[in-house]
Amino acid sequence: MTDYYDRAQALEARQREAALAAHRAGHAGAGQDHCEDCDGEIPVPRRAAVPGCTRCVACQARHEQRRSRWPMNTTN
Ligand SMILES: [Zn+2]
Repeated sequence: MTDYYDRAQALEARQREAALAAHRAGHAGAGQDHCEDCDGEIPVPRRAAVPGCTRCVACQARHEQRRSRWPMNTTN
């Protein structure tokens, strides 16, 4: 029985996320559209999924790897 409600809740959350993503995508032009590390274009779906992102997927992964190597430097 709880399964049914869990699924309904998950579906509602997904639909809300999709609506938010669509809303953000409509405003994506105002954000940063080029990666601050490699200056490559950040794809619109990524900008919609990660509002305020400043790096492409590859550079963000490198950035997070760099940070995880020095756990002392996690203040931001
Ligand atoms: Zn990049």
